[in-house]
Amino acid sequence: MGRRSEPDVTERPPVAVIGGGIAGAAACISLARAGCPPLWLAPPAEQQAQAFGESLGPGARPILKALGLEDLLTSSAHRPANASFSAWGSDRLTARHAALQAGPPGYVLDRLRFEADLRARAAALAERLPHRLSSAAGEDQVWRLHLSNGENCTASAVVDASGRAAVFARRHSPLIRRDRLIAAATLLRQHDLSVEPTRATLIEALPDGWLYAALLPDEALSLAYFTDPDLMPAGISRDPQVLAAVLKQSRHIARWIAEAGFVPERPPRLYSAGTTRIAAPVGRNGRLPPWMAVGDAAAAFDPLSSHGMTTALWGGWKAGEAMAAALSGDRSGLDAYAAALAEGIADFDRQQARFYAAETRFPNSRFWAARHPN
Ligand SMILES: Cc1cc2nc3c(=O)[nH]c(=O)nc-3n(C[C@H](O)[C@H](O)[C@H](O)COP(=O)(O)OP(=O)(O)OC[C@H]3O[C@@H](n4cnc5c(N)ncnc54)[C@H](O)[C@@H]3O)c2cc1C
Repeated sequence: MGRRSEPDVTERPPVAVIGGGIAGAAACISLARAGCPPLWLAPPAEQQAQAFGESLGPGARPILKALGLEDLLTSSAHRPANASFSAWGSDRLTARHAALQAGPPGYVLDRLRFEADLRARAAALAERLPHRLSSAAGEDQVWRLHLSNGENCTASAVVDASGRAAVFARRHSPLIRRDRLIAAATLLRQHDLSVEPTRATLIEALPDGWLYAALLPDEALSLAYFTDPDLMPAGISRDPQVLAAVLKQSRHIARWIAEAGFVPERPPRLYSAGTTRIAAPVGRNGRLPPWMAVGDAAAAFDPLSSHGMTTALWGGWKAGEAMAAALSGDRSGLDAYAAALAEGIADFDRQQARFYAAETRFPNSRFWAARHPN
């Protein structure tokens, strides 16, 4: 007859948040603010793959404000985004507001510092376990979680914020992969300090992919080459000449690097950067307790959009509100989150298709052909 009775809040195990990145930290903060201090499975920072990418979109600011975190951006380690240009569809450099990221510029972050500050805020509000999730099983209104150190624990709900690995969500819903874009990314330092480097972010289309370069707040140059795995030049992570050969195809970014005397600090590292999503990012039906996927675990975007960090913050914020309501018997917030995420993905798909279609200079390139409408 009536509603299924929910366990008493005082006896209920906590919500488990899986993942120590931006989405996981934001989810912990949001859950704690909603009265549900979580259990946080976050491997130690030194065991985490270092995240790359520092362009924070303008949409992040209101989310940080809603989470009481607006002050994180006031550190002098970050600064408002510099001028942004692209050579895309034409050899000429143009102001980049026609690109995927619409609207005013956001911030250029010291990414390590931003994530460390965010994690410290979350750690003060959560019970943190420095272990990875190995597996999970749903039973009797709880999730039984098996951890990498051999211990078990229980949770009344799960927020999967484990990034592209989506370690929990993938077991409950298929992963949809739109492309297999990868990035070879590194930092460059200036050896000749007599030249003032241009404070800018540049994107430049090349025959088999595209280059991204941004001057960071500490004056290092962040550089990444994006292409498909079979088109990534062999040896790019070992041999500096391979990256140099890629730069030879560039007009603007190569000139910027040469004129300011930037030299790679270390060989590039390879990162997955493809567009993926979980078919159903929330679990709210049947006898299993609820779960949701947030950040890259729910939807990972082509970094051309600079959407990733903002979506991770947004997902973490929404997770706190939706899970707190779900544990009180109202699971509509989970549906609202899934619908808003689907809308955001559809919007991204339209912008991405339009932006790639604008580059028509390389008709014989497999990279561009794969991204053009048939
Ligand atoms: C080359 C590149 C450039 C980018 N540039 C930008 C940019 O300029 N601007 C932007 O907004 N976005 C950018 N992005 C995207 C952005 O970095 C991601 O969207 C963002 O990091 C997602 O955060 P997250 O918390 O969801 O995932 P992640 O940062 O991947 O964090 C996931 C966490 O889960 C942990 N984890 C994994 N498995 C387990 C497990 N079994 N148990 C417990 N924990 C686990 C990991 O250790 C990690 O701490 C870029 C991405 C790439 C690849």
